[in-house]
Amino acid sequence: MLFTDLKIIKPILDALQKEGYEKPTPIQQKAIPSILEKKDLLGTAQTGTGKTAAFAIPILQNLSERPKTNQIKALILTPTRELAIQIEESFNAYGRNLPLRKLVIFGGVKQGSQEAALRKGVDILVATPGRLLDFIAQGIISLKNLEIFVLDEADRMLDMGFVHDVKRIIKLLPQRRQTLFFSATMPPEIQKLASSILNNPVQVEVTPVSSTAETIKQSVYFVQKEDKLGLLTHILKDHISESVLVFSRTKHGADKIARTLHKNGILAEAIHGNKSQNARQNALNNFKSGKTRVLVATDIAARGIDIDELKYVINYELSDVSETYVHRIGRTGRAGAQGTSLSFVDGLDLLNLRNTEKLIGLKIPVVKDHPFHTDNLVAQKRDSNNKPMNANASSGRPSRPNAQRSDIGTKKPKNKGFFRKK
Ligand code: AMP
Repeated sequence: MLFTDLKIIKPILDALQKEGYEKPTPIQQKAIPSILEKKDLLGTAQTGTGKTAAFAIPILQNLSERPKTNQIKALILTPTRELAIQIEESFNAYGRNLPLRKLVIFGGVKQGSQEAALRKGVDILVATPGRLLDFIAQGIISLKNLEIFVLDEADRMLDMGFVHDVKRIIKLLPQRRQTLFFSATMPPEIQKLASSILNNPVQVEVTPVSSTAETIKQSVYFVQKEDKLGLLTHILKDHISESVLVFSRTKHGADKIARTLHKNGILAEAIHGNKSQNARQNALNNFKSGKTRVLVATDIAARGIDIDELKYVINYELSDVSETYVHRIGRTGRAGAQGTSLSFVDGLDLLNLRNTEKLIGLKIPVVKDHPFHTDNLVAQKRDSNNKPMNANASSGRPSRPNAQRSDIGTKKPKNKGFFRKK
């Protein structure tokens, strides 16, 4: 199937061609016709499936036929600033040949320039919940003429504690509207929210969250906690020369990893919720442009980060929430491209690894041929500080045959078997 088969208008077809899109992804094939017919939609889709274009293209097309007014006609509500920025970039890209005005608003920055743009008139608004409610409270935004409402990443809204804000916003929307609801997972609370705001929706489901993209090569490294920085440095120095997105469980951990890599001559930056919006955006831009090779991110900061042609994701730790694994590795192998995911597993990650494997229905192969491999991990639970539950418990760390503590990032380990360079 081609985009022309979906009855997309020429200005958008030209823009898609410019983006290099050849054919619609499965979610685009399924969702675009229904959205063009102005139906409500319930989409179960993870990021990486092309879901942004699946709603942005038909919204742009439908709004291009509407007379110009100074009212907001479409609202896309999304949980994170990074995601909001990327959605607006997508609207700008696909709508480059249309006269529609788009704006993105989010908190953590001064409101002046966002407010000025709003006063000039906006057709399509992409927003995070807090800043949107602020502007509504100040009387700067009115949603009473809204025609299309998109709730993006609804499950993440719930995780991040935004569900009350979302419900407050929904109460302010006109009853007569088209609603598009997207979520990677559909836990009961999300289903309830969906059925309360959707009207006879078309249901579209692609790549359920438990399935990991087939194009992603996945592997696991058994390693003691204190050897993880050494292993990461080793891999980044000797085996991968491209850009890598590294996931860390904690903000502090992300900073520490980035600092250590930097000390070892690997250009790295951290991105997490404690950084200012500008610092986050700069780090993201530097990574996208290739100025920094490694971006170390926490889950919330990374959700939805959309980096074309990212080949490598490294899970420095595994999350307690197995679905997170699917989201993380979904940053690579996007829209059918090849990707590789490496997961570092110590005693604290073992239980999460088993749960993740259960979820994805796959045993992830273990790479043993590297200097930090251990067969002696002891499963332990983590506390909220990322430490073993029982502080006195042994780390389960036996003697480490191939590497010394002082090796971390400084000396090259002797055993250099894995990822052999050709
Ligand atoms: P999303 O799931 O919306 O985060 O999109 C994932 C990635 O796929 C983004 O980098 C898009 O630019 C890209 N993409 C979306 N649709 C297509 C398409 N039809 N062909 C090629 N790439 C696409």
